[in-house]
Amino acid sequence: MSDLEERDQRYVWHPFTQMSDWMDGRPIVIEKGEGNYLIDTAGNRYFDGISSMWVNLHGHDHPTIRRAIHEQLDRIAHSTLLGLAGVPSIELAEKLVGIAPEGLTRVFFSDNGSTAVEVALKLAYQYWQQKSPAEPKRQRFIALKDAYHGDTLGAVAVGGIEHFHQTFGPLVFPVLRAENAHCYRCPYGLTHPSCEIHCLESMESLLAEHGDEVAGVVVEPLIQAAAGMIPLPDGWLRRVRELCDQHETLLIVDEVATGFGRTGKMFACEHEGVTPDLFAVAKGMTAGFLPLAATLATEEIFNAFLAPVKNQQQFFHGHSYTGNALGCAATLANLEVFEQEAVLERVQGTIQVLTEELESLRRLNCVGDIRQRGLMVGVELVADRNTKQPFPPQDRIGHLVCLAIRRRGIILRPLGDTVVVMPPLSVTVEEIRSLVAALHESILEVVGT
Ligand SMILES: *Cc1c(COP(=O)(O)O)cnc(C)c1O
Repeated sequence: MSDLEERDQRYVWHPFTQMSDWMDGRPIVIEKGEGNYLIDTAGNRYFDGISSMWVNLHGHDHPTIRRAIHEQLDRIAHSTLLGLAGVPSIELAEKLVGIAPEGLTRVFFSDNGSTAVEVALKLAYQYWQQKSPAEPKRQRFIALKDAYHGDTLGAVAVGGIEHFHQTFGPLVFPVLRAENAHCYRCPYGLTHPSCEIHCLESMESLLAEHGDEVAGVVVEPLIQAAAGMIPLPDGWLRRVRELCDQHETLLIVDEVATGFGRTGKMFACEHEGVTPDLFAVAKGMTAGFLPLAATLATEEIFNAFLAPVKNQQQFFHGHSYTGNALGCAATLANLEVFEQEAVLERVQGTIQVLTEELESLRRLNCVGDIRQRGLMVGVELVADRNTKQPFPPQDRIGHLVCLAIRRRGIILRPLGDTVVVMPPLSVTVEEIRSLVAALHESILEVVGT
């Protein structure tokens, strides 16, 4: 083992990782990035099949973004937004309001997806306390089964993935939990579209029962990503917007995973013409270069925080690196790349090819379901395709498949036995073909059928 590998195992505590298992293995130590590839200290190249945990959009060395960061660095790396304004955060806030769903007019910066959601929850909560007339009873949130909104405590509270969130249950505020739309394993035994999205009745009855206590409904739009890439059927998000309107509560949309082109449009909300009241973005925001996040709000919400200073009605929240200048410069450059390279037009063809290529995986008996929204894909492996019986979790089939494809020069990471494929938007048709072929081989190698 190399010196760096040993020192990693000695000092670095990796996220979501059983460290005894980690220390049994040999870490790949990444040193460089070239386009869609990661290069380790031994010089091995790996295709970045999960966009470095869903953040990278245009490859690792895009010249426009690198140049923008360098130029900003020559001016200043960071100054605070507490008591001061900054050039790149002004320019970016204006740009974001321009591209976000219409009606979102104010931008609150933070530095990761969890904090963007945390900010949205606190804004919603405080909004009801001090809007006029106030509705102080609105203190509860509705969130979905299998939801993932991040790892800080507020985000954990609205999260609904048992094995991530259960441990911290006693520590977080209770939420009203609505049924999600898990079409592959529909608990009602129905199919879309003839089901008419029957599962939303669960949210409807929560709102009917608790409507006047609900501060907001928090959802991931179009697809529940960390849940295992579970798409929400067409029309689902629009219905949720209607339900929120009927019950006069806020819709909080978490676009941390879906934002910035992942689903084939700049934002997932655009597919359904929905404007949320609060809107969280992060991951793809800087194209994967720097940590930055934002929570956008409507003018209506913003106005509820306006008052004479003595009333103490401002939003009491902020982070040291809020509105970081390098991050904002990277994001401005990211948006420039979207325009200059017509990324959203180009990616339509890429998504189509990915859909077609993935079809070939259905020849494998253990492929239970292939779920896709744009460049977000989950391939669920099952022990029995007819009964949808999962593999025993201790067999770690998803993990083994990802190790097998790694030996073929591709980095993937599973969610249980769902293999996630989330390449950068800059993925080429050839790269898609070789990725899917390698995935096919890897599944065969591990499962044999
Ligand atoms: C990743 C993710 C988050 C959390 O973002 P971090 O930057 O990891 O804190 C929140 N919501 C969704 C939908 C995500 O996919």
